Parts: sequence; structure tokens; C-alpha cells
Amino acid sequence: MKKIIPFVSDSSDELKALWLGYLEKEMSGYELVLFENLSLEQKESADVAIVANPNPAHIAQMKNLIWVQSLWAGVEKLLQDIPNASFDISRMVDPALADTMAQSVLAWTLYLHKNMPAYKQQQSHKIWKQHIEVLPEDKSIAILGLGNLGLKSAIKLKENGFNVLGWGRSKKEIQGVTTYHGEEGLNQILKVADIVVCLLPLTPQTNNLIDKKKLDLLSPNASIINFARAKIINYAYLLEKIENSELSHAVLDVFETEPLEESSALWEDSNITILPHISAPTNMKSASKIASKHISEYCDEGVNPIFVDKDKGY
Ligand code: NAP
Repeated sequence: MKKIIPFVSDSSDELKALWLGYLEKEMSGYELVLFENLSLEQKESADVAIVANPNPAHIAQMKNLIWVQSLWAGVEKLLQDIPNASFDISRMVDPALADTMAQSVLAWTLYLHKNMPAYKQQQSHKIWKQHIEVLPEDKSIAILGLGNLGLKSAIKLKENGFNVLGWGRSKKEIQGVTTYHGEEGLNQILKVADIVVCLLPLTPQTNNLIDKKKLDLLSPNASIINFARAKIINYAYLLEKIENSELSHAVLDVFETEPLEESSALWEDSNITILPHISAPTNMKSASKIASKHISEYCDEGVNPIFVDKDKGY
């Protein structure tokens, strides 16, 4: 009899069916069962499950869980919804996701570097005006967060000639990248950056990290790209600064409420580019392969994947 692996998700039926299709292809040695189709005994005996935006009440019914495999890279919602969980969490660390994010970081950095927002606005007013373009080596791009996504993004920008700076919690050596850490390091990097790219996880420490004081350190010509989580940056003050020409542009992919409400003032400012959370969508095929690898290593060899550090929150 095949071991049952529950799939716990509050997504639409259509999305759940899609995920199941990919997971089943990669995990033919297991029986993947939607939480809602499990018997009480199956719920209570499961030691490992795959989760994607799970209902916390469903997770609570699985009393013997040892660990769960999240299909998402960011796990702040899981940690917040199920505080003091007795089980561990393996989050999605996928090289394909990092490649996609690095590509998005490069694309939107070039969008700003090549003055595309200004040319788009000029066209709508039939204005013919050429902007002076500096070389990429004279543009300083600061990556906040040098983890799975930030590191590849930094390397990609470096390969494309930009002057790349990076900031993280711990001290890091990355060839060709000037790195900073700690509070003072953050102040320094913000003062010199032309473009700030946020790729930090949302944790109690990064919540409102880029507050009014930090935003005031940026040069009026600087721009921000947020591909991480909205709560890390004070958007109300960011908008105020952009409206007052104290900041150049913001590319925002993440919002406290998604979809972004129609009433949000963020939509209105032509110096804010709104993206519908598309900078690095989870790839179902590669994520399913990773989930499958983790589960078979655990079931066949007793090897655990790397777990989220619940104290750090990532
Ligand atoms: P990760 O591998 O855990 O990397 C996190 C990085 O942030 C690490 O370098 C870490 O520093 C640094 N960090 C964490 N807390 C810090 C703090 N308090 N001060 C300074 N640095 C800190 O995470 P990841 O896989 O790169 O993902 C990052 C985030 O991207 C996810 O949490 C998720 O929210 C977001 N994301 C967005 C999308 C999208 O489509 N928009 C897609 C996927 C993920 P150390 O190296 O020193 O530990």
C-alpha cells in the first residue's frame, strides 16, 4: 500500500487539481490525497504533508505532523497562522525560482535604468526629449537580502555591468559585490543606492524595516523595487515622497491586500509601477520535483530537509 501524503490548500479547486497533477507525476510512489478527502484516521496518522496556503484549522486536525513541505518560498503567513506549531516547516528553495526572480530583477532594473517610465509618460504628452543615460557601472543597485533569490539577482546584475551592493543579516563575501550588514550597513547602502531591490523575508525584524527614517536616507533620484513583501516598506510614506519628488520611482509587486484595492492611491501615481505579484511565480513542475525529493529522502533514508528557523522567522 502506498504511503498517503496529504495536500492541504485553501486555493481554488482548479488550482488544487493543477498542483495535484504535477505532484502526482513526480511522486508516483505515494498516494497524494486532498485534505478534504482524508478520513479522520488518515488525518491523524499523517506525519508529513504538502501545503500551499493551508487553512490553519485543517492543519490543527493533523495532530501527528512532524514536518510540512510548503510550496511557497515565503512562509510568514504559515508561521503567523500557526504560532507554536509542533511541526517543522520546509520552505520552497528552488533554483528555477531564483533564476526567474533574477530575470525579473534585471528586467525591472533595466526599465528604470533605461528611463522607460519617463518615455512612456512623454509619449502620452507627445514630448520629444532625450534623457542622458549613464553606464550600468555607474548605477549602484542595492539588493536587500542575499538569500536564495537575492544572491542570484546580485550575480545577474553584476553580469550585466551594474555596480552591485548587497545587504543581509550576516556578513557575506560575494565576488564583485560590495556587501554590508547590520543597522549601520543598511544606512550606508541606502545613502548610496540608485535603485534599491527588496528581497528580504517578512519577519518581526523586517516588518516596517524601511520606515520613514530609512526612506529619508535615499537620494531624490533613487528608485525602489519591492519583490518581497509589502509590510517591509512604509508604502504610505513612499507614496508621499514620490508625490513630493523626493524619490524617483517605485516598482511594487507585493501589497498588504492582494489584489490591490481599486481605491488605493498607489494606482494613481505615474511614478509607481504596479505589478500583480508576478516577479517570481512558483513553477509547479520544478517545485513538485523539490517536494518529491524532500519527501522521498525523509521516507526512504530518514533525512530531513532544511527547516525554517522559527525564531528567525525565515
Ligand atoms: P532566503 O533565502 O531566506 O534569504 C533571506 C535573506 O534575507 C538572507 O540573506 C538573510 O540574511 C536576509 N535577512 C533576513 N532577515 C534579515 C534581517 N533582519 N536583516 C538583514 N537581512 C536579513 O529567502 P529567499 O528565498 O531569497 O526569499 C526572500 C523573500 O522573497 C521570501 O521570503 C518571499 O517573501 C519573497 N518572494 C517573493 C516572490 C514574488 O513573486 N514576489 C516570490 C518568491 C519569494 P542571512 O543570509 O544573513 O541569513
